[in-house]
Amino acid sequence: MTDISVIGLGEMGSALARAFLKKGRSVTVWNRTAEKADALVPLGAIAAGRVSDAIAASPTIIVCVSDYRATRAIFDRDEDAMAIAGKLIVQLSSGIPSEARAMASWAGGRGAHYVDGAIFAWPRQIGDDAVILASGDSVAFDMALAPLSLLGEVVPMGSEIGAASALFSGALAYLAGHWIGFAHGARICESEGLSAEMLGETLARIAPALGEDNRHMGRVIATGRYANPESTLQTAGNDIARLVDHAHIAGLPDAFPTFAADLFARAIAAGLGPEEHVAIAKL
Ligand code: NAP
Repeated sequence: MTDISVIGLGEMGSALARAFLKKGRSVTVWNRTAEKADALVPLGAIAAGRVSDAIAASPTIIVCVSDYRATRAIFDRDEDAMAIAGKLIVQLSSGIPSEARAMASWAGGRGAHYVDGAIFAWPRQIGDDAVILASGDSVAFDMALAPLSLLGEVVPMGSEIGAASALFSGALAYLAGHWIGFAHGARICESEGLSAEMLGETLARIAPALGEDNRHMGRVIATGRYANPESTLQTAGNDIARLVDHAHIAGLPDAFPTFAADLFARAIAAGLGPEEHVAIAKL
């Protein structure tokens, strides 16, 4: 028997297994492509030949594969793997809340304890300054707390099993805008002879203010207090409209600025111009 079994050894699963090993836990690992265990065996991991062996090996099973469909494909491939009664299954693959609920009911139906987690970190942060949101009933959560704490700061999300994946999905929507916006912003800078690195450095410099803006937007939407902003939606809409002009002048693709400018223009047409930027949520 080992302390923990890690199923899935991609970038994130391998980082999880390494962190457990580094913190002195005995670890069994399994991956569909078996060779990915090779780098972990010299660190002390035991490579299981079958997923059912990995499940049998430990009371705590950490799953981190591409998504919930892959998770079910793994558990469904081998009837023996269904022997999860009494085990703690911690799902750290990303998904949406309905998938978390389905997985919880699947695991609960087989007598397993289930925690649905969401990792807010890059693999290099695991075991150090990672943040992991975890949903589950109090018995399952208490069982998961010690192993998850070896990976980073654990944020309890309560017994609503879809809560961790709901927040992860919300953050992913934010990040989608962040990645697209940065890529377009980098091209703007380059078109004027500036390095994309300067944009990265500048945004890093104002990171605390951006963090505060996220808090502010959350409060505005939650309380419905959109009036009397420091800067209006109208002002932001005018500024964003200029990005379409810039794209045409600089010969850049205009898909992203056009999408953003249209959204703000529709909000202004709907009479939201004097309100907070985030009043676009009303559309
Ligand atoms: P990855 O490097 O692409 O690894 C994917 C893993 O899923 C591999 O172990 C792969 O096995 C396995 N897999 C995929 N489909 C499968 C199937 N049908 N049957 C069995 N195994 C299957 O991805 P990752 O970066 O480790 O991400 C894993 C999860 O962590 C994702 O849900 C991701 O959203 C989440 N996450 C990642 C990060 C990050 O920075 N990387 C951050 C936060 C959350 P093979 O090796 O055999 O292909």
